[in-house]
Amino acid sequence: MKKITIAIDGFSSTGKSTIAKQLAKKLSYVYVDTGAMYRAVALYALRNDYVGGEETNIDGLVAALPEITLNFKKNNATGNADVFLNGENVEDEIRTLRVSNVVSVVAAVSEVRQKLVEQQQKMGSEKGVVMDGRDIGTVVFPDAELKLFMTASAYKRAVRRYKELIDKGETVSYDEVLKNVQERDRIDATREDSPLVKAEDAIEFDNSDMGIEEQFERIYNFALRIIEKA
Ligand code: C5P
Repeated sequence: MKKITIAIDGFSSTGKSTIAKQLAKKLSYVYVDTGAMYRAVALYALRNDYVGGEETNIDGLVAALPEITLNFKKNNATGNADVFLNGENVEDEIRTLRVSNVVSVVAAVSEVRQKLVEQQQKMGSEKGVVMDGRDIGTVVFPDAELKLFMTASAYKRAVRRYKELIDKGETVSYDEVLKNVQERDRIDATREDSPLVKAEDAIEFDNSDMGIEEQFERIYNFALRIIEKA
């Protein structure tokens, strides 16, 4: 059967990665979490004081980009791919609110986007990939055979993210998480380079009130129909 490219975009915490991982598993495709890549660059920027302090040094970060290498490696315990920053597994650290609070500023930098988009296009060049992010259907793979755009109310999304962080043992308040979700959406949707917009040919899913199983079944069936015709 011919392989296709599946692009899943949308606002933060809309369950994109859950759907993407399930789809990839069921189709035996590769899953690429592009948010993890932006988060890893943001972590590098925090560690080197380019962001997060009183002053933001975007020129410094841009100059340091050649020093940053990102890879994914399968974690046998979870079955998912962990992201590595210069050889170090940073999968857990990139999910903290500290990183979430600066990632959208880092992701708005064109040079950062160029570097990561190039790597993403290479990773998906053989098709058979499910990639989630903000610009996959518009910029990374504008010719993807299946494009999905996920939405849900900011409140529902903040509740989901808050539960995830609390489960991981972070000390955060719901209000902090809601503020972060709203602020990231604002920066992602209004940045000049590759803003978060629904691709014209993307199918929109509002999952505020839809269970993950029902949603998955619908999306999987869409994918099957397209694969059969490919
Ligand atoms: O998907 P996730 O919420 O982990 O993404 C973190 C951040 O990375 C987003 O808020 C956005 O600023 C940035 N991002 C992006 N383009 C992508 C994926 C993520 O700008 N393709």
